[in-house]
Amino acid sequence: MPVSASSARTAARSLSVDEALDRILARVRPLAPVSLALLDALGTVLAEDVVADRDVPPFRNSAMDGYAVRGVDVAIAPVTLRVTGEIAAGSTPTGSVRSGEAMRIMTGAPMPDGADTVVRVEDTDNRTDVVTITAATKPGTSVRAAGEDLQRGETILRTGTVLRAAELGVLATLGRMTARVVPAARVAVLSTGDELVELDAPLGPGQIRDANRYSLASAARAMGATPIPLGIVRDTADDLRRALRDAAARADVIVTSGGVSVGDHDHVKPVVDELGSMDFWSIAIRPGRPLAFGEIDGALIFGLPGNPVSSLLGFELFVRPALLKMAGRRLLHRPRVTATLDDTLDTPPGLRFFARGVYDPQAGTVRTTGPQGSGILRSMALANVFIDVPETIQHLDRGATVTVIRTDQPEDH
Ligand code: AMP
Ligand code: MG
Repeated sequence: MPVSASSARTAARSLSVDEALDRILARVRPLAPVSLALLDALGTVLAEDVVADRDVPPFRNSAMDGYAVRGVDVAIAPVTLRVTGEIAAGSTPTGSVRSGEAMRIMTGAPMPDGADTVVRVEDTDNRTDVVTITAATKPGTSVRAAGEDLQRGETILRTGTVLRAAELGVLATLGRMTARVVPAARVAVLSTGDELVELDAPLGPGQIRDANRYSLASAARAMGATPIPLGIVRDTADDLRRALRDAAARADVIVTSGGVSVGDHDHVKPVVDELGSMDFWSIAIRPGRPLAFGEIDGALIFGLPGNPVSSLLGFELFVRPALLKMAGRRLLHRPRVTATLDDTLDTPPGLRFFARGVYDPQAGTVRTTGPQGSGILRSMALANVFIDVPETIQHLDRGATVTVIRTDQPEDH
C-alpha cells in the first residue's frame, strides 16, 4: 500500500489508541452505589463487605436420606436397630436417639439429640419399625455441622466482588433482600444520519437501515449496561440538540454514531460544544479514525463514526472499558494472545489496524474474515477476535505471529 505524505502527516498528529483510552479512563469514575434487589443485581459489583450475621446452615442437619444413629452402634455391620421416629426437612425432631435406636431422617432435616451419624438409606433395608444397617458407617458420616458453610461474624464477600449466581445465592442464604452495588450504567444510543430509516420502512433512494442502534445497544446490553435506544436523529443542529439534551437527562453515557467526520452535515461536534464540552480526536486507527469524547450535563458522550464496523470497534475499544470502569469493575481489558496468521494481511502505514479474525484456540491460528472494509459488517459477524496490527507494520505473511484480542472472552486484566 503506498504511503501518501498527507496521510503520514495526519497520522503523526493523531492520538494513538492507547493515549485515547488513557484519556477516556482518566475521566471516568465508578457510579455512586445503590441498593438493588438481589434479582436485579446480577453482574454488578458489590460496594460493601458482607458479613455473615448468622451461621449457615443454622442447625446441625442430615446430608442424606437415611437413619440418624449413634456412631458407636454402626461401627460393625450388619446390626439391627429400633426405629423410633421420622424427621422430615422443615420439621423438628421429638425425643432423642438412644443406644440401639435409629430415626428415619431426610436430607436437610435437623439432627436429633443423641445421634451423631447418618447411615444412608442405600446401606439399610429401609424399614420403618426395625432397620438393619448393612454397611459399617464411621461416626460423623453424612452430618452437616451448623456453620459449616458460613460462620457468623465472618466476612464472606468483599467490596469489588462481581455478583454472579453463586454470590447472589450466598446473599439470599443470609436473608439479604438487597445488596449495595455499583449500578449498571444507562447508555443512550443515538443514530445520526438523514439516510437512515427504521427497519420496517421501505428503502427509498439513497436510504439505508439503522444498523448501529441495534449493534451498539446490544453491545451495551451484552456487558450488563442498560441500553436506552433513542432512535434516529436527523442531520440538523436542532434535532441533535433536542436529542442530546433528552439523552443527557436520562442516561449516564450517550453513544452516538455518525456525524463526527468533517462533512457538511456533521453536527455532533458544534452541538456538543454548545451544550457541554467535547474533544474531537483523530485516532491513528483503522477502521474508526474519528472519535469524539466529552460531557453534557454530567453524562459522558462518545461520538463514534457511522460506519457500522467502525462504530462497533470504537465501542469495543473505548466505550466498553469506560463502562466497565463506571460499573466498578477492576478488569478492563480483554485477554490478548499470540497466534499464527493463516492468511496474508496488508495494513495501512501509520495506523493501528484491527482486522476481524477467526481464531482457532486449539490450533493457535487466526485468519481474517475476508474483506475488511469499514462498511462490511459481515466481517464483524463472522469474527470471534480482532487481530491487532501495530502502526509500524504494513504487511504480514502467512505464518507470522500476531496478537489477537479475544473478544469472545471476558476481561482478564
Ligand atoms: P458518517 O460517520 O455519518 O459520515 O457515516 C459514515 C457511513 O456510515 C455512511 O456510509 C453512513 O451511511 C453509514 N452509517 C451512519 N450511521 C449508520 C447507521 N446507524 N447504520 C448503518 N450505517 C450507518
Ligand atoms: Mg452521517
